[in-house]
Amino acid sequence: MSGLKYKRVLIKLSGESLCEKGGSGIDSGAAKLTAEKIKEAVQAGSDIAVVIGGGNLLRGAALSLSSDMIPRDTADYMGMLATVINGSALCEALKSVNVPAAVLSALPVKALNEEFTSAAAEMHFQAGEVVILSGGTGCPFFSTDTCAALRACQIRADLIVKATKVDGVYTEDPIKNPDAELIEKISFSEIISNDLKVIDHTAMTLCRENNIPLRVLNMFKKGNIIKAVQGERVGTEISA
Ligand code: UDP
Repeated sequence: MSGLKYKRVLIKLSGESLCEKGGSGIDSGAAKLTAEKIKEAVQAGSDIAVVIGGGNLLRGAALSLSSDMIPRDTADYMGMLATVINGSALCEALKSVNVPAAVLSALPVKALNEEFTSAAAEMHFQAGEVVILSGGTGCPFFSTDTCAALRACQIRADLIVKATKVDGVYTEDPIKNPDAELIEKISFSEIISNDLKVIDHTAMTLCRENNIPLRVLNMFKKGNIIKAVQGERVGTEISA
């Protein structure tokens, strides 16, 4: 068995990892399945942080577009609150599979979580807990992908894993073109110049400037998350 390549890994999960495929809201079965996958990464020996999205409940841009009364920044704060709700759900799901966890939030809610600081994150890593990061960056007009890149810099993560429904980054959309090929390794600059939709540009710029590699993979395929943490080839590796 290979050793541990990355001491600290940040996993970016979309809110949809907490609901049934194509659904919305929070489903206990889906949340526990996600928690089991995080448990595998913990058992591989790395410190694990998770940035959780809110798309299963609310996305700010979509809400403000479809509404004639909610401006974008209010809608984005609502979206960030959705990630706070998801953070608590994920924390309970982890505890239900015997993984100690704590939630640190950019928008703290006293009864549910603590305010995010990198020092607080460090304390929870030292206590052997999974550190769930909710509330996004705390600022509207950003995404939880950008939050993942920012927090990875702050907590000195060695790798970001973006867990998706697909196996990685393809040359084209594999749903539209079945001949599209999976890319094993690519640079952030090539992603930008080929306009491949992986994560937003702000997130990519942060990763590139701070030399943090990103691996895009299907977390639900057996063994994938362990391979990623151990530095084996899986999904698509994006680096500077
Ligand atoms: N959001 C925000 N600032 C942030 C992170 C998130 O305003 O730093 C809001 C934004 O409205 C976004 C929503 O929170 O649509 C939920 O996050 P996201 O869409 O990234 O969730 P995911 O697609 O990963 O489930």
